[in-house]
Amino acid sequence: MSDHRSDMVLGEEAGDVRRFWGRLGLPGLIDVHTHFMPERVLHKVWDYFDANGPLIGGLEWPITYREEEAERTALLREFGVRAFTAMLYPHKPGMAEWLNGWAADFARRTPDCLHTATLYPEPGVETYVRGAVEAGARVFKAHVQVGAYDPADERLQQAWGVLAEARIPVVMHCGSGPAPGKYTGPEPIARVLARHPKLRLIVAHMGMPEYEEFLDLAERYDQVRLDTTMAFTDFTEGFMPFPRQALPRLAALGDRILLGSDFPNIPYPYLHQLHALERLGFGQEWLRAVCHDNATCLFGL
Ligand SMILES: [Zn+2]
Repeated sequence: MSDHRSDMVLGEEAGDVRRFWGRLGLPGLIDVHTHFMPERVLHKVWDYFDANGPLIGGLEWPITYREEEAERTALLREFGVRAFTAMLYPHKPGMAEWLNGWAADFARRTPDCLHTATLYPEPGVETYVRGAVEAGARVFKAHVQVGAYDPADERLQQAWGVLAEARIPVVMHCGSGPAPGKYTGPEPIARVLARHPKLRLIVAHMGMPEYEEFLDLAERYDQVRLDTTMAFTDFTEGFMPFPRQALPRLAALGDRILLGSDFPNIPYPYLHQLHALERLGFGQEWLRAVCHDNATCLFGL
């Protein structure tokens, strides 16, 4: 079985990606939602996608960039992605701290990766979140669907407080796509924001399929942002289309939308995410903000 795309195909795609941001007059892209994690964990994730498990809605989901870690980082650099993240997340207690150790090391040996950390509702969470912040973490990832926890869980309150105080963004998979979880959807996260209105929440995947409810939260809280991960692509539009009536709100929130891709775990080429944004028709200024400038502001790059 050959999942690897040829070097020639990847090289051509890199040229197309570079032309995309070059046309916009940008120095490159910033992608706030890319997955790097210990190889053993990543391979388990890939196995799950291969098996069309229930958390991905039982969908056919071929991984486009099933490469070794070094090749994946090299490819992002060839695409001209100037900064990216290592989105990793635990599905059970006792795992987050270990993942954070790995991510700190990954950030050390990968200077263009924004040092990423994660958390889970468990004893000691505040301590290791504080530790990660002190160690230089610049972004957190929380996965409400895979972790199957309530983001408003009492055990997380101090940790959210630490992150709000430190102004460190947290990318959270809190929407109910591609498959709902017990605590996904806008309601639990609205309770978190009610207590931590300054939390720099980045709603992953535009909150799909509850796009409009998460736009409500972004309009209500000025520190709420959304990442574009997989949104607007042919793949996602096929089963969780972005509602047309919400397009003007999306255009207006251009300073709060951040490019995210889900690289490498995507069932289409990276370039397609960029084209999916371009064809929204909001123009170059919107694209420049979303693909680069909003993230440079947020992360002080
Ligand atoms: Zn993701």
